[in-house]
Amino acid sequence: MVSVSRAVPDGQPGSRPGAPQRISVLGATGSVGASTLDLLAREPERYSVAALTAGSNATELAIKARQHQAQLAVVADPAAYAALKADLAGSGIAVAAGPSGLDEAAALAADCVVAAIVGVAGLRPTMKAVAQGRRIALANKECLVSAGSLFMDAVRRHGAELLTVDSEHSGVLQTFEHHNRDEIACVTLTASGGPFRTWSAAEIEGATLEKALKHPNWSMGAKITIDSATMMNKGLELIEALHLFDLRPDQLAVLVHPQSIVHALVEYRDGSVLAQLASPDMRLPIALALTWPARRPTPTPRLDLAKLGSLTFEAADEVRFPALRLARAAMAQGGGATAALNAANEVAVAAFLAKRCKFVHIARTVEGALEALAAGGQLQVPSDLEGIMALDDEARRAATAILARLG
Ligand code: NAD
Ligand code: MG
Repeated sequence: MVSVSRAVPDGQPGSRPGAPQRISVLGATGSVGASTLDLLAREPERYSVAALTAGSNATELAIKARQHQAQLAVVADPAAYAALKADLAGSGIAVAAGPSGLDEAAALAADCVVAAIVGVAGLRPTMKAVAQGRRIALANKECLVSAGSLFMDAVRRHGAELLTVDSEHSGVLQTFEHHNRDEIACVTLTASGGPFRTWSAAEIEGATLEKALKHPNWSMGAKITIDSATMMNKGLELIEALHLFDLRPDQLAVLVHPQSIVHALVEYRDGSVLAQLASPDMRLPIALALTWPARRPTPTPRLDLAKLGSLTFEAADEVRFPALRLARAAMAQGGGATAALNAANEVAVAAFLAKRCKFVHIARTVEGALEALAAGGQLQVPSDLEGIMALDDEARRAATAILARLG
């Protein structure tokens, strides 16, 4: 790891009336990162860019940092530091790398930090931004799956403002009557069902990587696209919603809705159901997280229900999609189990993406890892971030061992 000295001095967000909002994007080279930068570029008088980060792609990060006149560019992979520094030479943009660089990006003065790193790799930097009491636009759902209670405690303790950038949760946010929270019977997240929605269990056994990467409605990063195909994504989202909206597991449900137009439904005890509808476009939830509670015009295509004609719904099938059952069980079990579920899933999805295992091995690996850790009494709720990361490591080791056995 390189330890890079502070590239930019500390400062407070410039909240002068009329001054542009300063936005940092952690995970700027990803799918959510690109949608965010697209929105920021459309309103240069409204937004300026503070820090941008990437995992290892220095070239793309440098291009984006120049395009958006970022103050700081950080690459997580220390080996990419030299390339980033060379690419940004003479630009006036500060450069850093490694975990300390990510911390610096997260802590840089900003009005909002968009947390769009994929996986638990985003947990520490996002927690760092939380500790500054910033507005956090959270796409990185693995933070809440892995460290939900700890994360929410930190948000409260530091007076941070947490806004979701997950389309279903944004739908919940928009239909959730806080003054009637005791009257809420059920919160339903919709799921497209992914590319294998209509496939038989036997067909799913033979699912290829190429087919799994073809999501019917959304264009997203590889990990979440595979999570959508297994429906683990919806399981992770149930756990995300549990923490974001302080609900009980029995108040959360999933409904398959292939058109991805209705994003969430909140049912009240009087029998009324409020739903949020919009074209599937991440720029809408991202924009709302930036401006909440205000709304601004967005480039999201307008909904034409007459043209769509019909919206359909069906029950989720936890037999063909066991990842959803596993996530639900981990949610019911609590803290340690969800952290382990997330870590084992990250390892198994990475193996599938590298063509080192079959599609159906993903859920089998997660199930086996959870069983192994439960048998070893290792699923207690960790009390701090170090405990979470230690459990994450254990679950990764268990998952790796199972994948080796599965061949
Ligand atoms: P992506 O793979 O397209 O982008 C991930 C970003 O994280 C990239 O900038 C990458 O360089 C960076 N990154 C990867 N590994 C890293 C590491 N070890 N350290 C630091 N940075 C690293 O992913 P995405 O589809 O944009 O998703 C990002 C997050 O948002 C995920 O948690 C996902 O579940 C969530 N999300 C995405 C969408 C979507 O439409 N893509 C919707 C809802 C939620
Ligand atoms: Mg979602």
